[in-house]
Amino acid sequence: MALSVLAVASECVPLVKTGGLADVVGALPRALAAHGVAVCTLIPGYTPVMAALGQGGREPRAARVMRDLFGGPARIVPAAIDGLDLLVLDAPHLFARQGGLYQDAAGTEWEDNGVRFAALGAAAAFVAGGGLPGRKFDVLHAHDWQAGLAPAYLRFAARRLASLFTIHNLAFQGKFPATLFPRLGLPAESFATAGLEYYGGVGFMKAALWFADHISTVSPSYAAEIMTSRFGMGLDGLLRGREQVVSGIANGIDTDAWNPATDGQLVARFDAADPTPRAANRAALAAELGLDGSEQGPLFAFIGRLAWQKGIDLVLESIPAIAGSGGRLVILGSGERELEERCRWAAGANPGRIAVFIGYSERLARLLYGGADAVLVPSRFEPCGLTQLIGLRYGALPIVARTGGLADTVIDANQAALAAGTGTGFMAAPDDAAMLGQAIRRAAAAWREPATWRRLQASAMASDVSWRRSAGEYARLLRGLAQPRA
Ligand code: ADP
Repeated sequence: MALSVLAVASECVPLVKTGGLADVVGALPRALAAHGVAVCTLIPGYTPVMAALGQGGREPRAARVMRDLFGGPARIVPAAIDGLDLLVLDAPHLFARQGGLYQDAAGTEWEDNGVRFAALGAAAAFVAGGGLPGRKFDVLHAHDWQAGLAPAYLRFAARRLASLFTIHNLAFQGKFPATLFPRLGLPAESFATAGLEYYGGVGFMKAALWFADHISTVSPSYAAEIMTSRFGMGLDGLLRGREQVVSGIANGIDTDAWNPATDGQLVARFDAADPTPRAANRAALAAELGLDGSEQGPLFAFIGRLAWQKGIDLVLESIPAIAGSGGRLVILGSGERELEERCRWAAGANPGRIAVFIGYSERLARLLYGGADAVLVPSRFEPCGLTQLIGLRYGALPIVARTGGLADTVIDANQAALAAGTGTGFMAAPDDAAMLGQAIRRAAAAWREPATWRRLQASAMASDVSWRRSAGEYARLLRGLAQPRA
């Protein structure tokens, strides 16, 4: 019999995405199905999610009604979208709003985020505990702080079920004032250090790390790093105390959704056997973005959130290295206003050499993966990172910081690796613009030797970035957690 898992998360591709979390939550069910694990995923019924349910004959099947979920009525609506078995928490007083998933249109956090995501956790525990007739689950799998109270609610539910909590980014912890606690309906004793109390308030991530039966994060290196004070974000002590139940499983990507041979957004499609059509994508990028189209150096791309974590400031500091190697740079992203401004300024000061697109564009991202020679991922910390995985798949060699999942998924093309023919990208010490500049120069030197570059590109494109191996690891972990059904 298939193992039955209830996943709970605040984002899920193809419905709602602000980052890599959504990609993983959307891709893992299909990958796990191949291992005899059936995943049903509970997500909030944000306005775009409810709109998607109403489209294409996907009228809600029988919904389970909850009369009062944190101040309003709610329904749990089953739905099937894109092969995903979904449960949607339709609670209009919490999720039906214009604006972002976590912030209003002006970028201010919704003031009731504590209640909104406590409701998600409570609903997950309700469903996991057998609240939906005919649906039985063996394990609860909660993702990131927004689902962090699910393991806590489950711990105090009538039917105990084992839980796995996956950390996608320890930097976002969901910390709320103590005044939230009385509204949660959890036993008074749970508001303690040995519980969900966190620096005097309520910590959603902290609660999950305390109450979950197993904790995983999205790469082996990040699993080790978060137990140190440098990367532990205040939770390293707790994690060290639970070291026996902490593990790291690297993310994969959906290799059907990310396939340069079939990608409809590319001007020219290609595969590992013949990546030469990439040149047409590169030329299209140069034409669209007003870049100098000559072939004097590599085209570098940065795709991601413009945040301190991602090291975009280090990229800007490396412009002399890029220019010195005859290269050009495209930045695609959005985020902190000051960093956006600095990117725009750099583009203005380097016409024809640097282009900046502030915003989110799946089309441009794909064209960059399929046309740039290298993607820059100089993160200061990186739980896993998807950009470098997509870069490998599309033959845009990743230039990464040696940290977290970046260190686990890229092989630095140092002398030994070049001799052995195993290099797939370039690595630099994290948080160091000079070292990033060195890696950029090394990449440019390799690019100027076409035979070397072709060999590196072939190794990169041969890397297994699929979910195959990691899905097997998740399946083993989940099976180990499941108890025999009562
Ligand atoms: P994060 O920390 O933001 O989750 P990841 O590397 O795990 O970083 O995932 C980022 C994902 O979002 C990748 O699929 C990347 O291609 C995509 N992405 C990031 N910024 C943009 C953007 N501005 N436009 C299009 N796609 C983007």
